Amino acid sequence: MKQANVRQFFQQFPNDDACLEHLFNVRFGQGHVCPKCERSAKWYRLQSEQAYSCQWCGHHIHPMVGSIFEKSRTPLQLWFYAIFLFTTSKHGVSGKELQRQLGVTYKTAWRMARLIRDHMAAVDGDTPIGGEGKVVEIDETFVGGVTTGRDWRERKTVVMGMIERGGDAMLKIVPDQRRGSLLPVIRANVAPGTEIHTDELRAYNKAIPVGSYSHKTVNHQKGEYATPCGTSTNQIESFFNHLKKSIAGTHTSVSQKYLEAYVKEFEYRFNRRMRPETMLSELLSRFPELDA
Ligand SMILES: [Zn+2]
Repeated sequence: MKQANVRQFFQQFPNDDACLEHLFNVRFGQGHVCPKCERSAKWYRLQSEQAYSCQWCGHHIHPMVGSIFEKSRTPLQLWFYAIFLFTTSKHGVSGKELQRQLGVTYKTAWRMARLIRDHMAAVDGDTPIGGEGKVVEIDETFVGGVTTGRDWRERKTVVMGMIERGGDAMLKIVPDQRRGSLLPVIRANVAPGTEIHTDELRAYNKAIPVGSYSHKTVNHQKGEYATPCGTSTNQIESFFNHLKKSIAGTHTSVSQKYLEAYVKEFEYRFNRRMRPETMLSELLSRFPELDA
C-alpha cells in the first residue's frame, strides 16, 4: 500500500468537523460507556463546542482533551495536515516550513512541531531492540555546531545510535563517548543475547562482552566497513548520514536541548520504513498518555 497523497488526505479530512469526528471515533466511539451514568450510550455532536454529549445524561466528552491537540486554538485540520507533512517528509519538517505551509505564526508552528515530535516518540516507544540471534549495530556521531576550533567536540552533541539489522533503530543523546556514559544505555536498550557490531575504536569495546552480549568489530581506520564474515556498521552509518544531511538541509542547526526530539522524529520514520502508509493513521489514533 502507498502513503496517502495530499488529495486523499483532504478527502478523508475535508474540514475540522471530520477531524473531530475521527478523534471521537478512534478514542471513544459510539456505544462508549458514559463515565458519568455508566451506560453504553449514543453520543451526539454538540454544535456549541467541540464535544459530544451522552444520550442519557447529557455528559460531555471532549475528544481533544489528553491529546496533543488539547489547549490549542489552531484548527484541528491544520494539526492533522501538519502530522501528514511529518509522515510524508524524508528530511523532517522545520518550524519555518510548517509556518509557510499552514499560514500560522512561527511561534505556533514551532510549538506544533515540538508536540508532534514528542507524540511520534511516545507512539514509537522504547522497547529494547535485539535479542537472541539478532545483530545490533552501535555507533555514535556528533551533531550540531561547526567542526572547527579546538573545542568543537564540546560544542556538539553526541548521538548514540543502535540499529537492529532488519529491525528497529534506537537513538539516544549521551553526554560524551566515555564508556561510563554508553554502557548503561546499551544495557537498557539492547536485549541480552544480542550480537553487537561496532567500530574497533570504541571506548566501550572491551566492556561489551561483559554481561550477556557477544561482540564483533570492524576497523574503520583500515578503511574497513564490513568484514567478510558479515560484521558491519553500515546501517547505523547510513542512518547517521541521512540524519546529518537532513538536519543541515532542513533545520540548518538544532539546539542541544531539542536534538533528542528531532532524532526521535527520524527514528519514528525509520522504524516504519517498510510500512510508511501506516504512519498517519497510527499517529492520528494512538495517544499514549491516555493508554497508560
Ligand atoms: Zn451519560
